[in-house]
Amino acid sequence: MKYDSFFTEDGYPNESRFGKNIFYLLYKNRLEGISREIESGGEVPSLLLHSCCGPCSSAVITKLSPFFNITVFYYNPNIDSLEEYRKRADNQKKFLDFFSKNNNGFNHSVSYIEEDYDSLPFYATCGGLENEAEGGKRCVECFKLRLNKTAATAAKLGFHFFSSTLTVSPMKDTRTVNLAGMEAADKTGCEWLWSDFKKENGYLLSIELSKNASLYRQQYCGCIYSKQRLNKRD
Ligand code: SF4
Repeated sequence: MKYDSFFTEDGYPNESRFGKNIFYLLYKNRLEGISREIESGGEVPSLLLHSCCGPCSSAVITKLSPFFNITVFYYNPNIDSLEEYRKRADNQKKFLDFFSKNNNGFNHSVSYIEEDYDSLPFYATCGGLENEAEGGKRCVECFKLRLNKTAATAAKLGFHFFSSTLTVSPMKDTRTVNLAGMEAADKTGCEWLWSDFKKENGYLLSIELSKNASLYRQQYCGCIYSKQRLNKRD
């Protein structure tokens, strides 16, 4: 099926025809096209991959490495403290080190860009939404904040694609992440790689790889509100 046939006339993923699988279908179809281009001698495309943490990135990098030269983009102003930010960033780098030594011969490059910790954009965007349930309006804004920055950086640095590890988590709504990515792509002109990394046992793979690489797996999503929620449950 042609890639274009998955969209409505006004350019949106055709959810009424393909249902909630549409984002996975778009992802598979796009990867098949890229694979054909590489096999016929075309350039390996570059991807700026927003990553929330090492564990989530583990399965995503493993799945995408045959198709892209990947640069991991660690930008997460949502995280509640510098200490936690550093811990997650250090474990991100730990996974990249593990992957470079155990990547089964994939020879496409994986590199890393890290933004300094600055939580002000998160509070400027999500302030007033602290009472929202996880998965609600605050999370929509949090996704948009991180994906808009990733898209702008990808466009500025000349990447072919940008995407995010966020859809590997069962706690993150695939549709919301993808529509935030689409919106960011429209603003910048850089192509959004649709995804549903939960599929094909993506989440289970992330747990397995995190154990193999001895990664720290955090117990809360990232912001102070998700941490307070976790503490209330204890
Ligand atoms: S719960 Fe997670 S996605 Fe939602 S606002 Fe907090 S850090 Fe962002």
